Amino acid sequence: MALTCPKCGHEIESNGIQKQHYHCDACSSDLKLDLLCGQCGFQLELLQACGAANLWCVKCNELKSKSSAIYSLIEE
Ligand SMILES: [Zn+2]
Ligand SMILES: [Zn+2]
Repeated sequence: MALTCPKCGHEIESNGIQKQHYHCDACSSDLKLDLLCGQCGFQLELLQACGAANLWCVKCNELKSKSSAIYSLIEE
């Protein structure tokens, strides 16, 4: 999926939730992937175990699917 640079609006292709750090070629910003819960908007925690990544919402107190999360980029 395509993400948008928060500084210049340049489109950056996402490689999935396991890649956390991005670089914008257009404005040379270092960016970090921000994952928010699609239900409550709280920041999700990335749990990595045995090569599999899961998303956890501390507010909902449950695992979230990758497709239900809101993806955005923030300045690092
Ligand atoms: Zn940019
Ligand atoms: Zn939640």
